Amino acid sequence: MCGVFGAYSKNDYVAEEVYLGLLALQHRGQESAGVAWIDSFGRVNAVKGMGLVYEALDQKVLSKTTVTAAIGHVRYSTAGGSMLQNAQPICANYAQGPVAIAHNGNLTNLDDLRTSLEARGAIFQSTSDTEAILHLVAHQTEKSPLEALLYALDQTRGAFSLVVLLEEGLVAARDPWGFRPLALGKRGDNYYVASESCAFSLIGATLVRDIEPGEVLLINEKGLTSFHLTTESGRGWLCSFEFVYFARPDSVIEGRSVYRARQEMGRRLAMGIGGEGCFSEMNASDADFVAYLPDSGTTAAIGYAEGSGLPFEAAVVRNRYVGRTFIQPTQRVRELGVRIKLSPSEAIFSGKSAILVDDSLVRGTTAGLVVAMIRECDARALHLRISSPPVRYPCYYGIDTPSRGELVAAQHSLEEIASSVGADSLYYLGKEGMIDAIGLPGNSLCTACFDGLYLDERDRESVCGFHNSQILRAENLT
Ligand code: SF4
Repeated sequence: MCGVFGAYSKNDYVAEEVYLGLLALQHRGQESAGVAWIDSFGRVNAVKGMGLVYEALDQKVLSKTTVTAAIGHVRYSTAGGSMLQNAQPICANYAQGPVAIAHNGNLTNLDDLRTSLEARGAIFQSTSDTEAILHLVAHQTEKSPLEALLYALDQTRGAFSLVVLLEEGLVAARDPWGFRPLALGKRGDNYYVASESCAFSLIGATLVRDIEPGEVLLINEKGLTSFHLTTESGRGWLCSFEFVYFARPDSVIEGRSVYRARQEMGRRLAMGIGGEGCFSEMNASDADFVAYLPDSGTTAAIGYAEGSGLPFEAAVVRNRYVGRTFIQPTQRVRELGVRIKLSPSEAIFSGKSAILVDDSLVRGTTAGLVVAMIRECDARALHLRISSPPVRYPCYYGIDTPSRGELVAAQHSLEEIASSVGADSLYYLGKEGMIDAIGLPGNSLCTACFDGLYLDERDRESVCGFHNSQILRAENLT
C-alpha cells in the first residue's frame, strides 16, 4: 500500500503542498517518501528519503522550491525491497523529455514486462514494478510522452493508481479495474490528485470526483483533458479492504464515507446480520461494554455499541508515538510493537465482561497479544468481534497481506482461532454484510482476500502473467 499526491497550478508554487498532502497520506506508507518536479531547464528533479515524511523530506527546502507542478509518494513496499533505491517518485530524462512517476498498486504482469524489456536492452535500477512503466514509456521514442504513457499503461495489468509528471503537465491514471482509489481535488484554479480525499482538506482543497477506472487525466494550462485506456474491465474491482482498514475514516471513496461504512460494519456485526462465528460455553449476552483495538477498530466499535445498545469504553489505550504494527516488516518487531503500542486499562476491564472490536484479523498476532494483556487485567470474559470477513487469501493488488501459510483464517477453523487468541467467543461480519455496509454494488468491489475470487487465476500463484479476465473460484484450485 502506498500513497500518491500531485499538484498543478498556473500561478502558485506547489512543492510544499505536496509535502503537506503526503503528511495526510502517511498512514498509507511509512518506509520512504519523495517529491519530484520538472525544473525551469526542463529536467526532472527529486528529493527522497527513508522513514516518515518529516524525516525523509525537508519542508523548508520544498517551501522554497519554485515549481507550479509536482508529485509525491509515501511508500510501503509490496513489490521490491525497503530501500532508498526503491523510493518514489521514479524519475528519468529520456529522449522525449523528463518523466516522473509515483505509483500505488502492484502490476501483476511484471515478470513478463521485465523479461520483454530486458530483451530489448532495458537495465533496471530497482526491483520496483513502477520502473517497468518508465521503461515502457522510454522505449516509445517516436511517440509524445503522453502517447507513450498511454501505450505503456495499456501494456500493464493489475493495480495502478498513478500520478505522473510530463512536459505536457500533471497526469493522473487509474487501472481499468479501479483497484486502488484516486481522487481529484480543487482549490481556486489549482488542481490536486491524491490517493484519498483526506489529503485535500489539509491544503484547503475540496474533492471534485474520483478518477474513473481506466481514465488518464491530463492537467495543464488548458485545463482537464480525459483519455481512456483500451482494456475492457467488465466490472469494477475497487478494494473493499480500503473501507475496512486502509483508508483514513475522513476520506470519501466513490461517494461513500469510509467512516460511515466502518460504523455500519460494526452496527451490522452487533445485529448478527450475515456473519459467521463460534462461541464457547459463553456468548456475549453477559457483556458490560464495547471496547476497541485502537485506532483501526474504533469506528466499527462505535457502530457496534450503537447496534448492541451497550456502552462504549476507550478501554485500550494507544501510545501515539509509535507507528502501525501492520506496517512493520518483521514478525518479531510486530509482536514487540503491540506491547509497546497498546495498553488495556485494568480499572475498566477488571471483573467485567467485554466485547473487543477490531476491523480485521490477519495473522491474529495483535489480537492474541491484546487479549492476553486484557486477561492479565482480570476481565471476567472477553468476546472478540471482527468487522470484516475472515481473511483467507493473499492480495496481489498492492496490499502486503501475508501468504496463506501466515493467514490465521486460512489455516485454522474459527474454533481454533478463538482458542488460539484466547477469546471466549469470536464472531466475524459476513461478506454480504460488509458489502452492504460499504454501500456499493458487490460487482464493483474486489473481495478476493475474503473469498478467493481473483481477477485472474494466475494472480494467486504469482504476480506474473495475465490472460483474458477470468473469474475463478480459488477454492477449486489447489
Ligand atoms: S485482495 Fe483484498 S486487499 Fe487486495 S485489492 Fe482485493 S479486497 Fe483489497
